[in-house]
Amino acid sequence: MLPVIALVGRPNVGKSTLFNRLTRSRDALVADLPGLTRDRKYGEGRVGDCDYIVIDTGGISGDEAGIDQRMAEQSLFAIEEADVVLFLVDGRAGLNPADEMIADHLRRNNKSCWLVVNKTDGIDPDTAMADFHALGIGEPVAIAASHGRGVSQLIDEVLAPFVSEEEEGGEEAAKEAYTDNIRIAVIGRPNVGKSTLVNRMLGEDRVVVFDQAGTTRDSIYIPYERDEQKYILIDTAGVRRRKNIKEAVEKFSIVKTLQAIKDANVVISVIDAREGVTEQDLSMLGFVIDSGRALVVALNKWDGMSPDDRADVKKQVERKLEFAAFARFHFISALHGSGVGDLYISVNEAFDSAMAKWSTNQLTRLLEDVVADHQPPAVNNRRIKLRYAHQGGSNPPIIVVHGNQTDALPGSYKRYLENRFTKYLKVRGTPIRFEFRTGD
Ligand code: GDP
Ligand code: GDP
Repeated sequence: MLPVIALVGRPNVGKSTLFNRLTRSRDALVADLPGLTRDRKYGEGRVGDCDYIVIDTGGISGDEAGIDQRMAEQSLFAIEEADVVLFLVDGRAGLNPADEMIADHLRRNNKSCWLVVNKTDGIDPDTAMADFHALGIGEPVAIAASHGRGVSQLIDEVLAPFVSEEEEGGEEAAKEAYTDNIRIAVIGRPNVGKSTLVNRMLGEDRVVVFDQAGTTRDSIYIPYERDEQKYILIDTAGVRRRKNIKEAVEKFSIVKTLQAIKDANVVISVIDAREGVTEQDLSMLGFVIDSGRALVVALNKWDGMSPDDRADVKKQVERKLEFAAFARFHFISALHGSGVGDLYISVNEAFDSAMAKWSTNQLTRLLEDVVADHQPPAVNNRRIKLRYAHQGGSNPPIIVVHGNQTDALPGSYKRYLENRFTKYLKVRGTPIRFEFRTGD
């Protein structure tokens, strides 16, 4: 499970600045729940071998009326979802009544919490911190988010309890043990039809659902079998836990979605075709692609749409989802069940591609052919040489290419390699990653 870090603090203390430093994802996800506020941002980051999720509550500004109330609500949501809270205060502005209010929440919540004094650049950190002992949250830590000072030490310490010695080997071993189970996560915005789809997928006559073992804090893991293939469905929609329709709003959680992506082999990303491809669909897909997981895209609610509307959606898919073109796209109706069985064909295909094993011999011969067709350019009057390739991992497949001056390989040539390898290795539904090693 990815550790979840929440950034809380009053406006203007530097939460967004710190958030941007801590995340590397192309997009932040913004909580977009009907009836709830939109002021939380989610991103993913990594330090060393440790991935984590960061939640920022920094979107609150301007609206003076009720700002304390809203800030408190945001902080509470974020604290609820987090494993660790970083409570930011402004070392230049000093202690503020709003800080005390937040400290109050934190003391009552009993979450692991760090008091972080920001903006200590160009001032004496000890003086800046002295004020904040009064908050009773523990020993303050001084940073300067905008300069990055103290940030990586802070994060190392914050994450230390989550990086266990055995984890590195352990994670690989755990993945190996699962290879006969295809782990599928069904993700998407609220109301796109995830629950309906999950019910359909599990409700087919060909499916045998087993007792649910090992439920976790977040999603539910449902083991089942279909046509002699074992699957584990990671149910982010909480279908099996929901008792009534009223719970519908609460069931969507971005943290849950990010955890599920991380834990899956194949992600089915559900988009509401009637709404078209929205910004939030795009940022969720961005996360799937950053994670390297195999992907199948389901455009749902295809039933009863007019031919014009359908043509329109298909155009949008072509235009906006080009970055996910390695995936198969399905136009389905979870409600009526049409197209749902076919999803399995793409899920299995994507899984097989993601887990494929190629010998060094095979990859090297392919590399030689591809290079013979189109040589890399010369740099400093020396031709870039690509000598051999081996497989460095799966899900996503990683191809490690060894040669000389590979640092100078242009992006266009990398794309050429990627396209050719994808084609000749018959990879479908998963991205391939290339790593380049240089011998000189
Ligand atoms: P938020 O409202 O808590 O998200 O705060 P922001 O991240 O938007 O930062 C508020 C202001 O403080 C911006 O003008 C930042 O550039 C500035 N700021 C953030 N971190 C630092 C820092 O470490 N030092 C200084 N001097 N300014 C900072
Ligand atoms: P979730 O929030 O993503 O789990 O979405 P739900 O499965 O709860 O579906 C939200 C609404 O969309 C419900 O009213 C469903 O009946 C409806 N819905 C789901 N799938 C379809 C579909 O394929 N076609 C149509 N017309 N409605 C659908």
